[in-house]
Amino acid sequence: MRPIIEMDHVTFGYGTTSVLQDVSLHLHFGQFAALVGPSGAGKTTFLKMVTGLLTPTHGTVAINGHKFGDPLPPRIGYVPQIETVDWNFPVTAGQVVLMGVTNTSGLFPWVSRADRQRADELLDQLGIGGLANRHIRDLSGGQQQRVFLARALISNPDLLVLDEPTAGVDMRTAESVLHTLAHLNQDGLSILMTTHDLNAAAAHIPWVICLNRRVIAQGTPEDVYTEDILNETYQGDFMVIHQNDMLFVQQRPHHHTLRDILPNPTPGETVP
Ligand code: ADP
Repeated sequence: MRPIIEMDHVTFGYGTTSVLQDVSLHLHFGQFAALVGPSGAGKTTFLKMVTGLLTPTHGTVAINGHKFGDPLPPRIGYVPQIETVDWNFPVTAGQVVLMGVTNTSGLFPWVSRADRQRADELLDQLGIGGLANRHIRDLSGGQQQRVFLARALISNPDLLVLDEPTAGVDMRTAESVLHTLAHLNQDGLSILMTTHDLNAAAAHIPWVICLNRRVIAQGTPEDVYTEDILNETYQGDFMVIHQNDMLFVQQRPHHHTLRDILPNPTPGETVP
């Protein structure tokens, strides 16, 4: 099968702090994969390796056979976490989409009529056709998410990479974003996204990669949602529940005794 992501023996650290340790991962064309793991596991750093924003200390990354720095660089559409975007920037939804146009160098350093048409088509396709002239700040979280999705898609990427597309939006919006991604995937687009929502990933995403500084496991949700793998990934205590062909995972709550909560008793006092 044709590989879309080939990451081999990647090691990376910020200064002396090691974050990714000998990470190897191959995804093939048309795969839709979720990258999961606890905060600080290195998920964002992993995405930065895949998008070429950071360079590994050791190891190699190739996207659709292209390495960063090659004459033909990888074509990647990146959707940032909408919570990290500066909304004071005065732009309309349509202008945000056109920022994704990459063929503006050389003879025609401006967006063409065809680009504008493609931007309108994408907004229509994503169900927000009427919003092109609205200020991006005035849209709902789900609508903003779709505008950034359109920006990532306008350059016809080989791979779509999304950082937490279901964070900061309500459950219904998260579902609808995942449905949209599933449709894009059915049309042939390869997708890699991070998420904290293990249950939504189980319902919508066919391949899951468990990361905690290294790849702990990867496979279908059925394969990797086991107590052993989740406990190792999250250093937690997980329950896995199968019900009516559906898979749910839940972290067992810690049971605190009064002794854990109350301050140290004064001498002579008894604590239940
Ligand atoms: P995740 O996305 O899984 O929460 P990150 O990739 O953001 O994990 O971070 C992994 C580790 O690297 C964390 O310990 C974080 O504090 C550290 N880190 C992330 N970015 C930087 C940075 N720019 N400089 C120094 N340390 C960083």
